[in-house]
Amino acid sequence: MKIAWRKRVRRERLRTAPFPPEWKEIITRNLPIFSRLPTNDQAELLGHVQVFLAEKRFEGCGGLKLTDEIRVTIAAQACLLLLHRETDYYPELTSILVYPSTYIVEEDRYVGDNIWEQGADNRLGHTGRRMGSLVLAWDEVKHGAAHPADGHNLVVHEFAHQLDFEDTVTDGAPALRTRAEYLAWARVMQREFDALREAEETGAPTVLDTYGTANPPEFFAVATEAFFERPRALRAKNRQLYDQLASFFRQDPIAYSAEPKRPDA
Ligand SMILES: [Zn+2]
Repeated sequence: MKIAWRKRVRRERLRTAPFPPEWKEIITRNLPIFSRLPTNDQAELLGHVQVFLAEKRFEGCGGLKLTDEIRVTIAAQACLLLLHRETDYYPELTSILVYPSTYIVEEDRYVGDNIWEQGADNRLGHTGRRMGSLVLAWDEVKHGAAHPADGHNLVVHEFAHQLDFEDTVTDGAPALRTRAEYLAWARVMQREFDALREAEETGAPTVLDTYGTANPPEFFAVATEAFFERPRALRAKNRQLYDQLASFFRQDPIAYSAEPKRPDA
């Protein structure tokens, strides 16, 4: 990953600047997971948050008035995915649009046989390649941060999609280093994806949200949520998937997760 020298210097300055105490208070209050992180990771996360907030533009939508609480709570969750890795801070992403709650998207949907249906869709969040933006519902962002072990996290989900955009294709694989890594990734993901589809059909219990059966990009986003929120259960049930994610993220969330020790508890 080539990052211009001046950018590196500017980011290093941001990372090492004193962290505003009122922001740290927000993170400690809104993200129970933060206090569970090892001290080094906490410091690294705060550094990333400084860069993230300096580089991304936030916009309040649907009458939402932006506050530091909103910006910092989103940034801290997004930056959890950057720990321990060389990162260019979601380079495809310019702005983050925040609605107070679920928002409605008018769109044409293909229902088959050359028929398009016009509909209004209720959404919690969304992002897309070449959109340059990411949309979030604030109440869901806050709920996700407050419940770090329920298996769902909107910010983690949408930013996993952004990681998928960091290589040339949106296929449920983030930017990996070698062809061998891509092959290993594809092999494990395909098998787990098929297994999730089968479990959905038979109604068998799954650690992963069956929303992940929609397509490989959604599978990666859903798997990333489970990895950070229910790592014990995921490792117990989908060991190879867990190992792939652990090797990409260079993290073992079991070490700091708020998930109960017994996966089925
Ligand atoms: Zn998604």
